[in-house]
Amino acid sequence: MSENIQNLRDYFARIVRMGETVATLFWDQQTYMPVGAAHARAEQISVMSELIHQMRTNDTAYNLLVKAEAEAGSLDPDSDDARLVALTRKHYDRMTKLPSEFVAELSRQQALGHEVWVAARKENDFAKFAPTLERIFELTRQKAEYFGYKDHIYSALLDEYETDTTYTDVVNVFTEMKPYAVSLAHAIAGSKNPVDASPISGDFDIAKQRELTLKVVEKLGFDFHCGRQDEAAHPFCNNASRYDVRLTTRFDRKYMAQALYASLHEAGHGMYEQGSPERFEGTVLAGGTSLGVHESQSRMWENLVGRSRNFCKWVFPIVKEYLPQMENTTAEGFYRAVNKVEPSFIRVEADEVTYNLHILLRFEIECGLLNGEIAFKDVPEVWNAKMQEYLGITPSTDSEGCLQDVHWSEGLIGYFPTYTLGNLISAQMFHKLRTAHPNLDAEIEQGNFTSVLGWLRENVHGYGAKFFPREVVLKATGEPLNSKYYVDYLNNKFSDIYSL
Ligand code: ZN
Repeated sequence: MSENIQNLRDYFARIVRMGETVATLFWDQQTYMPVGAAHARAEQISVMSELIHQMRTNDTAYNLLVKAEAEAGSLDPDSDDARLVALTRKHYDRMTKLPSEFVAELSRQQALGHEVWVAARKENDFAKFAPTLERIFELTRQKAEYFGYKDHIYSALLDEYETDTTYTDVVNVFTEMKPYAVSLAHAIAGSKNPVDASPISGDFDIAKQRELTLKVVEKLGFDFHCGRQDEAAHPFCNNASRYDVRLTTRFDRKYMAQALYASLHEAGHGMYEQGSPERFEGTVLAGGTSLGVHESQSRMWENLVGRSRNFCKWVFPIVKEYLPQMENTTAEGFYRAVNKVEPSFIRVEADEVTYNLHILLRFEIECGLLNGEIAFKDVPEVWNAKMQEYLGITPSTDSEGCLQDVHWSEGLIGYFPTYTLGNLISAQMFHKLRTAHPNLDAEIEQGNFTSVLGWLRENVHGYGAKFFPREVVLKATGEPLNSKYYVDYLNNKFSDIYSL
């Protein structure tokens, strides 16, 4: 490696490690931190974020970058070094558009916003959260203006999570998905072969559920030597390097599928991080490339693998071992139960058919709040009206409506569409994976996931953040994002289950 690129790498290694420290503070905030520490933690994260921002945007960073760029000019543009320099430039350009004081203020509001959201959700009172939400959106709008955009303010926000994806791309995806999802849900509602989900409801010991999730997640290939799983109000995966990947899940005594599938989902994120190449450690090339590709990994393990008939045949005897109440059902009964399609209030519990309608609703509300068409105090009303329109149901409380997600409280605006992009990418990749491994179904039925994980390691994880999401999709599947695979997947699966 040339000297100037090495210098850039060394300098940014310190920043990457500081970012990992903030990630650990955040994980602690969401899991074990005493409630009373919220203000102190907000200050700690704010100070660290400000320091990181200064280090990423100061003269030293700029001078190192310019020198490294001069060296990188003669390299293969797809080499690690050339990509490392190019990605550092992209981050630098984005960061230098935000003044340090603005970054500190945004970060403080995000940490405080979380605290206010937790209290409002607990008290089921959106009005308590509305002023904070308004402030967060104000700062978000300001951030988008600092970044700049061509077509729509939303594109500036989306670019942070899904590079090169625009407002129009998202509108196009929903234009294709919405009528399809609505008509499939309608056909299922009229099916003469309805699904009985009662076997997965009951009274399930939480300690046993925890053991079950740990066992299954380990079988998938998640490495507990460099990871762990804890509980959080809203499950997430957090990592401080590929050697410290932390999953969270949540347990419902009355509904065993919640913890099991949340664990599969987060483990999908976690294995992506654990698969990031060692040679990228401590550099900007480490970890996943985007939220959409990240979500394709979690949704693949949760749904395309975890909710498949073959997976259910494998996992069901293990489920029974931990939760003997399941004795009275069969693997097929379990498979049908975990695939029940039914309009529901909570996004993270939504089935595969209605899920994207939950995302569409949030996307539309975010756009409305950003352009002033929706007043903050009216969010619950607008939310409920859209739920009625898309899913035919109306939440009776804010907690099961507009207060259910953590995202807005943390300033994660422009984030939700990446879930739908992830669904589409997951089906497109799984199609390719299945072609490469004709015996995949039989392997999964035996609890052998080496082909799945091996293919993902080679075609997705092994790139780390070196390539942009569009490039990863193209490299892995040989074509650009194509919603046909997801539509075909849903059609085949649910036509069979519901005898359509
Ligand atoms: Zn996820």
